[in-house]
Parts: sequence; structure tokens; C-alpha cells
Amino acid sequence: MKIFESDSNHILVLERGKELLSALERYASQRSLESAWVSGLGAASSAMVAWYDIETKQYIDRAFDEPLEILSLTGNLSQVDGKPFWHLHGTFAGRDYNAVGGHIKQLVVGVTCELHLSPLSIAMTRRFDDTTGLNLLALPACSDS
Ligand code: ZN
Repeated sequence: MKIFESDSNHILVLERGKELLSALERYASQRSLESAWVSGLGAASSAMVAWYDIETKQYIDRAFDEPLEILSLTGNLSQVDGKPFWHLHGTFAGRDYNAVGGHIKQLVVGVTCELHLSPLSIAMTRRFDDTTGLNLLALPACSDS
């Protein structure tokens, strides 16, 4: 992984064969990074994405074992019960140019993956929400409007 850091902007370049979530977990751990926002693009050799069924409160996984363009990748880093949690979504396209996407559970870089990462000084944490069955963001001093 190549890393360029400038003020609060970090550029990460993941090489072919790297797994996205593992690389981000290692990157955050080495810097004691607790909160960040990330966006990116590139190409994957495979991806496991999920769609959340609010009725059953279960993720439905779908594996794509084919070369995919990473059209758009976005997400954030927060803490769940004191442990880092990357929440990533992505839109991809295969040889047929049709877009697919979802909640990223695994992604292996196929060519390159270029990421822009902005560390945040606020502590973003997630708390379990009974209504949705998900760990939702619970921002400090957050007011409901
Ligand atoms: Zn998600």
C-alpha cells in the first residue's frame, strides 16, 4: 500500500491482490485512527456485497467473482464497543457495464484502488438500534431536529 499524507488528506493506493477492509483496518490501527471518512475508485477482481433486509434484519450477501470497475466507493470509520468499524458501500460495473452495488463485506483489488481518506477529530461511535437491528452512528452532542 502506498500512502501520501498531507494535512488532513490521506491518499492510499492499494495494489492488485490487496483486500480492502484488511488494508483499512491495518492502516487505522497503525495510526490509532478512530474516525474518518473515505471515498475511492479503482478496479476489483472480486467483491462480496450485501443488501440489508429491514424486515428480517439480516444482510443478504452476493458474491461477484469477476473483474469489476469500482465506480464509486464511500464509507466511514467509527467505533463499535471500543473496536474500529469500517462501514463501506460501493457501486461496481462488470463487462456488461451494468451497475451493481451494496454494503461491502469483502473486496479484492484487481488493478488498483485509489482512496481519499479524511481523518476526523470528532469521535464517531455506533450504538445498537433495536428498531433497525443495526449499529447506527451516535454522534457526540448530537441534537435531533
Ligand atoms: Zn451498509
